[in-house]
Amino acid sequence: MAETATCPLCDHKTARCEYVLSVRVEHYECRTCGEFAIEETSKFSLRELDEKRYLISAIVREHSIRGSKLLLVDGDIVPTLDHFESVQITELLSTHFPKEISSQLDRALVNLRRLSDGLGYPVEIDLGMDRSLFFARDKTEADFVVTALEQDGLLTAKQSSITQHDLVLSPAGWNRIAEIERGADGLSSKSAFVAMWYGNEEDAIEGENSRSFCTRAYDSGFRVGVEQAGYEPRRIDFKEFNDDIMDEIVVEIRQSRFVVADFTGHRPGVYYEAGFARGMEIPVIFTCHESHLNAAHFDTNHMNHIAWKSSEDLARRLEKRIVATVGPGPLKRAEHGREQG
Ligand SMILES: [Zn+2]
Repeated sequence: MAETATCPLCDHKTARCEYVLSVRVEHYECRTCGEFAIEETSKFSLRELDEKRYLISAIVREHSIRGSKLLLVDGDIVPTLDHFESVQITELLSTHFPKEISSQLDRALVNLRRLSDGLGYPVEIDLGMDRSLFFARDKTEADFVVTALEQDGLLTAKQSSITQHDLVLSPAGWNRIAEIERGADGLSSKSAFVAMWYGNEEDAIEGENSRSFCTRAYDSGFRVGVEQAGYEPRRIDFKEFNDDIMDEIVVEIRQSRFVVADFTGHRPGVYYEAGFARGMEIPVIFTCHESHLNAAHFDTNHMNHIAWKSSEDLARRLEKRIVATVGPGPLKRAEHGREQG
């Protein structure tokens, strides 16, 4: 049964919390952070983050608004909870927070659009409680973002009490949202780079020659999962790792919205590509066939990778993970219209 509790992300005193004993997870509904869950021991790492918690709060709210709920974990204990996607807290912090004011404004605008009932309808917000919508630390920063959006002509704000505002998106605001969703800026690139092994005739995986195993994994696993999530998969097949191929890979990764790195076969190239993408602050989704997991030299062990069993299993879980951590891609939105958000 749900009880009133203090939210571990924003310290809001009247969040609703339900403890899921079977998986030792706390499930919260918070006015500021939205709906999320957290593995119970991971709450301690939040305390160490201290004031950075507002970043997590904002990302969790953003996901909650678009209907994908996050289960926050830290370290090796990664429980599963129906309808929730597990993500490492450190991973969220390193890749998902807007780095520049322009992308902060864009994402705040998209949040407001998701809360709006349609053209001309006001979104009622409380600058304190809803600071998460604006990726803001406090009321002052939230006010700054709202004012900036208003000065850009993207919305009108009408104050209804000391902290309450009615925000109405302007035609320019709706146009800007359409632009963001069409992928007019680099952040909304529709391509995803898949870093993986292509196999060979000599090595076997699961009793099958690894070349045909990897080909099938791409065709009915990686490709399908990425496309279903609304992105266009890109890959580079190479026999040798040389300078030319490295340049080509660097270009592809730079232009990608995110990278899928599969460690089946433990190719040095894949480790390199994943490391390069992370250095560029491009999100990386880690995957590995379950039979190869033990041999992985992961310091990526804590990165919560998808340990897949079959291509179909991979496609399904990859799609879910992409939508939860990066968000649905432009191709998905174009297909399903605006209620997909
Ligand atoms: Zn909260």
